[in-house]
Amino acid sequence: MKKTAVGEQKNLHKVSRPAWGSRAILITLTVTIVGICVWMLSNTDGLRQAVDEKTKAYVEEVSVQLASDIDYRLSKIQMDLEMLKDSIKQFDRHSQKDALENFLQRKADILDFTNLILLYKDGEVFSSEGVQEEVLQAQGIQDARLGKYGVSFLGNQEILYSIPVYENGTITGVLAGLRSKENMQDLIQPRSFSGQGLSCIVDQKGEVIVSPTELDPFLHLEDIFRQGDTEAASAILEMQSNMQENKGGTFFLTAADSSNLVLSYNPLPSYDWVLLTLVPSNLISHDTDHFVAQMYIIVFGIICLFALILWLSFHLHKRYYRRLEKVAFTDPVTGGMNNAAFQLKCRELISQAKPGSYTVLLLNLRNFKLINETFGSREGDRTLRHVMGILKEEVGEKEAAARGDADVFYLCLQENRQEVLQNRLDAIREKINAFNQGRKDPYYLTVNAGAYVVEDPELEITLAQDRAQTAYQSRTSRQENVCVFYDAAFTQKLKEERNLNNLFRESLAKRFFKVYLQPKVYPGSGKTAGAEALIRWEHPERGTIYPSEFIPLFERNGKICALDLFVFEEVCRMLHRRKERGMPCCPVSVNLSRAHFAAKDFLEPFGKLAKAYEIPEGWIELEFTESVFFEEEDIERAKEQIREMHRMGFRCSLDDFGAGFSSLGLLMEFDVDAIKLDRRFFRNIQSRKSRIVVESVVGLARRIGADVVAEGVETEEQLQFARDTGCPMVQGYVYAKPMPMQTFEEQWLAENKL
Ligand code: C2E
Ligand code: CA
Ligand code: CA
Repeated sequence: MKKTAVGEQKNLHKVSRPAWGSRAILITLTVTIVGICVWMLSNTDGLRQAVDEKTKAYVEEVSVQLASDIDYRLSKIQMDLEMLKDSIKQFDRHSQKDALENFLQRKADILDFTNLILLYKDGEVFSSEGVQEEVLQAQGIQDARLGKYGVSFLGNQEILYSIPVYENGTITGVLAGLRSKENMQDLIQPRSFSGQGLSCIVDQKGEVIVSPTELDPFLHLEDIFRQGDTEAASAILEMQSNMQENKGGTFFLTAADSSNLVLSYNPLPSYDWVLLTLVPSNLISHDTDHFVAQMYIIVFGIICLFALILWLSFHLHKRYYRRLEKVAFTDPVTGGMNNAAFQLKCRELISQAKPGSYTVLLLNLRNFKLINETFGSREGDRTLRHVMGILKEEVGEKEAAARGDADVFYLCLQENRQEVLQNRLDAIREKINAFNQGRKDPYYLTVNAGAYVVEDPELEITLAQDRAQTAYQSRTSRQENVCVFYDAAFTQKLKEERNLNNLFRESLAKRFFKVYLQPKVYPGSGKTAGAEALIRWEHPERGTIYPSEFIPLFERNGKICALDLFVFEEVCRMLHRRKERGMPCCPVSVNLSRAHFAAKDFLEPFGKLAKAYEIPEGWIELEFTESVFFEEEDIERAKEQIREMHRMGFRCSLDDFGAGFSSLGLLMEFDVDAIKLDRRFFRNIQSRKSRIVVESVVGLARRIGADVVAEGVETEEQLQFARDTGCPMVQGYVYAKPMPMQTFEEQWLAENKL
């Protein structure tokens, strides 16, 4: 029986930690894609910032230019008035009143004034359009009277420019020109910015002097930007203080209507005024915005696509692993659980239950090999499926059944009482064998089991299985259809067996094995009838090891065959020597383990050795037990092997008769030369029944021409019994214990006549 648990666990390991390679690829891919997206976004952001910088610089440049342009044009108005003032001198205001007014009218048209007014200190007034009281009261007029240039703001955003008029070095009046709102608006309308800009002139306190048609944006600057736009708020504060100091600046802001704007403020050098210019921030980025948007769409698309790929691959992987898992946990032959799955399930069940409530069992179909050989492997597989089917039916919900390897099954049952477990196994066996009903050629499966009650919930399941296996192995060859329970002593025994196994080869080579001989005696005459060769292991370190310690082990692993051949050769050697020296000798019997009988031609080496040592016919007897007939599928073959022994000149004897089934019918079937009555016949020598049985067997043996040897006769009473029942030969301590060959030859044979 092979152990697969560890190997399968390794496989399981592989399955449960799948495809590191593909995982790594996936992670690398994700990182790369995310990296590319971040890079693209940051590039886009960089582009945006660069464009914003450009926009700011451009707006600032143009605004500064515009401010100086407007400043110049405003100054030019006063220059126009200056020139006009000189031209007026040609008129005599007293005599040429009409001509002067006509002149003013013409000049007003040419110089874009809505009204040109000439006021004299003496109260004389000339104007192109008539004079309103408001004009006369204007601050600028007063300023000009005092010799300064004056500028006044009238309602409706009209501006009145005024300059002093001198006559002979003294101020005699004021020349004033009125500019209409439209005219002023036209003056400040920025020609750049593709008509998208908006300008306005304010004084240092922020009072609007000239505003474009859409006055609103400038009326409440605080209202323009969105509340919470802290950046813009601080920029506006900065602007207010800068304006006081005749400094300019430019900044971005988000309007309350969410539109993004650039505001540039520039002082007009000749006045205490400031030009505000408001331009949409996408003035330049207008075109790039389009690309930026495209970029965002592309990045978004890539992310979506990648997410889809990820999802798909995850999904496919999951399906793949589920399939892999199924393969890894399923027994390919029966379709049931395999050992790996069993171990996991057991672990789960046992760890959740009270300690000691579960038993792990190993089931072995003993003669399954026969099915494979006789009916073919397909039938074998069918049988395994059949067994698995029944196990599945028989286990409860909190139990498990699996096929381990070949014809080995495992059960994990929620039960710890031995009788109950044995009963359940009996029921399982009956069900398994039920298919034989009505079959012409029934074949009964023997189900042997080993069991281990799991007391420690932490115990590795492999160990529990090993212990069930140990229990299974510890059953004796006669125990069939039974469940053997694990006992700690088994492990000790196994360890010991392993040690013995390791010592075997060297011991055989170094002749640590010794052949002992035990005489068979004719009880009547006391003469030696023969001897039985019995093996002893005299290990220099371990001392004498008795057959009961190693024969069953070597029978299981086949080493017994080499050992029997060794004993056989030692006997041949002795017989040969005695024959050569002309010394008398008796027949010697050699034990043949049943392990030999599995091989068809096992007798060949025995025949060759006998030939080589020139052993006369009948000098060697081969002893074997009846088990060789039961175990061999082919009874004919066993019969043939006995015939072969005879052909080779060996006698045959049936050992341990009475210890097993010992059917008398069997005696008739097989042509054996001697029957060795097991020592148990001589235990109850007082019983009449024993006497009758022994007498009958002896009588029957005689009738078929076989000898009878009474074995294990220890006492005089037993010897008497053997004599009384007519046993022709006796082997037992009553005469001698097995003794070294040399002792047998030198002492026994010398003292006891043949
Ligand atoms: P067995 O073939 O039935 O051998 C007889 C056993 O009975 C021997 O035990 C022997 O020492 C023991 N015996 C003889 N007289 C008495 C007695 O009066 N009282 C008691 N209590 N025992 C007695 P041993 O030598 O320990 O061998 C045990 C078994 O080991 C053998 O039983 C045989 O089955 C096996 N064996 C021994 N040597 C060999 C061998 O060379 N080859 C094989 N295949 N088996 C061997
Ligand atoms: Ca024997
Ligand atoms: Ca015997």
